[in-house]
Amino acid sequence: MSERDIMEYDVVTVGAGPAGLAFAIRLKQLKPDIRVCVIEKASTIGAHILSGAVIEPEPLNALLPDWGKNPPPICVPVTKDEFWWLHDPKRGTKMPLTPPQMHNHGNFIVSLGALCAWLAPQAEALGVEIYPGFAADEPMFDENGAVCGVRIGDMGVAKDGSHKPSFTQGIDIKAPLTVLAEGCRGHLTKQLIRRYQLDANCDPQTYGIGIKELWQLPPGRGEAGKVVHTIGWPLDPATYGGSFIYHLDKDRVAIGFVVGLDYQDPAFAPFEAFQQLKHHATVKPLLEGGSILSAGARAIMEGGYQSLPKCEMPGALLIGDAAGLLNVPKIKGTHQAIRSAMLAAEHVVENLKSEGWDAKLRASPVMAELKKVRNIRPGFNKGLWFGLANAGWETVTFGLSPWTLKNHADWSSLQKIDSYEAPKRDYVERTLPPRDRLAEVYFAATEHDEDQPVHLLVADTNICITRCVEEYGNPCQRFCPAAVYEIVEDDAGKRLQINAANCVHCKTCDIKDPYEIITWVTPEGGSGPNYQNL
Ligand SMILES: Cc1cc2nc3c(=O)[nH]c(=O)nc-3n(C[C@H](O)[C@H](O)[C@H](O)COP(=O)(O)OP(=O)(O)OC[C@H]3O[C@@H](n4cnc5c(N)ncnc54)[C@H](O)[C@@H]3O)c2cc1C
Ligand code: SF4
Repeated sequence: MSERDIMEYDVVTVGAGPAGLAFAIRLKQLKPDIRVCVIEKASTIGAHILSGAVIEPEPLNALLPDWGKNPPPICVPVTKDEFWWLHDPKRGTKMPLTPPQMHNHGNFIVSLGALCAWLAPQAEALGVEIYPGFAADEPMFDENGAVCGVRIGDMGVAKDGSHKPSFTQGIDIKAPLTVLAEGCRGHLTKQLIRRYQLDANCDPQTYGIGIKELWQLPPGRGEAGKVVHTIGWPLDPATYGGSFIYHLDKDRVAIGFVVGLDYQDPAFAPFEAFQQLKHHATVKPLLEGGSILSAGARAIMEGGYQSLPKCEMPGALLIGDAAGLLNVPKIKGTHQAIRSAMLAAEHVVENLKSEGWDAKLRASPVMAELKKVRNIRPGFNKGLWFGLANAGWETVTFGLSPWTLKNHADWSSLQKIDSYEAPKRDYVERTLPPRDRLAEVYFAATEHDEDQPVHLLVADTNICITRCVEEYGNPCQRFCPAAVYEIVEDDAGKRLQINAANCVHCKTCDIKDPYEIITWVTPEGGSGPNYQNL
């Protein structure tokens, strides 16, 4: 095989989300002659980004003080906050007070995907080189064991591993510093956390799954700038989560549902719960007669302060959601991603070294923000009522409790069918689109060449048809929002079929599988969802 092509930079940044782009922009602002590139697995910048998103603007103000003169294409000032408690499918109460973390006065409703697509040319104008369609497949190490760059995945490999006529060997991108900005459950980040035992002194990381649809409402129905959050139905009190409904301009509304991946019920299906939420008596009238423009799913960080791994290793560092800096009670991570990115750029600009970054981050306002709210999310591990009371306490005491509650790995919370009494679910008949998960995948516009190696590695598929079917009833068929996993039966007997082409890169299977045997790896660069304005 021929030698791989090598490109060399001062810094290689993995991921063109808000963290990666803000990092590169700040670095170039500080040192215009530095060579920095940003690589992105999506075919275009923003196409793999799925968020709410209501953003706090302060870090963006600091990064690009004039951004308001040329704002991103979707950018609606928040005008109103509402917080609802949904009792059952029919009844809901608007709470007189909104939790302080959900006060959004001064914030903006954006499409984070569109915001990233808007940031990218501004980075390029400063000289940042951005490569969409490049999936970082593996980290590279030098002779001392330090990270020295990343290897881009090969293109044109057939399902059986042979080379198609279109085969192109992935290049190596080498740099004294690699910045991991892969977002939640990063593929390289996960490997590096394990290799350098970066999580040796913290709690396990925890996650949620967020499923979202962008709707076009009938004319005149939208209330641009209105922000609604709900808790309660259709979730039972043991399951953490809730919904968000953000009114954009032009009668468009972003509706989404987030569920903690520490749910216990093996029969629970987050996608179905989201569809139920849309049929609540207070929500359905908003959507009826409208149409879905775009849809998808993405895991979200929930571990916060006590799950933060060490954020540096020889030759590399973590920023944004790759580190786990999202503020869960606010359901906001964008401001933390941009803030940490700027701080990291300021830290490395002179000597391109990761040393000292972890201490700098921990002493910064980014970490102070996480510390204040650290006990709120784990308080819900004891159920909704305890969680709410505890959240009230933690809020009025500004997080000054002398204790820190623990986080547990999400996969370990799933209960076995025979020992779990599932809560009764008062689900209603569905009439709103989409019909099913495959119809939702259509709105994600996800594309993978079918003739490429399956990018969801299941270490032992025997378990699926022996133990898992008995113990958990194959929950992969329910936790995956894109119908990728299917137990089929043919002449050869029962087996797991992986419909990898449907995958929307949410990473839920990599997190929630109770045997921890599913590994998400990068498919060919440019594959995956093509989100529009999510
Ligand atoms: C449902 C949901 C609702 C949310 N709501 C809000 C909200 O209202 N407000 C808010 O502030 N935050 C919200 N967040 C959180 C917010 O989206 C994140 O905190 C933010 O996107 C983190 O930015 P990031 O740059 O660290 O990661 P990301 O935005 O995830 O960006 C990572 C990028 O890296 C790319 N990438 C990953 N791995 C590789 C690889 N190996 N090679 C190449 N490219 C790679 C990805 O394709 C992606 O483009 C929400 C998140 C979810 C899931
Ligand atoms: S296969 Fe995994 S990463 Fe892909 S959509 Fe399903 S749960 Fe998400």
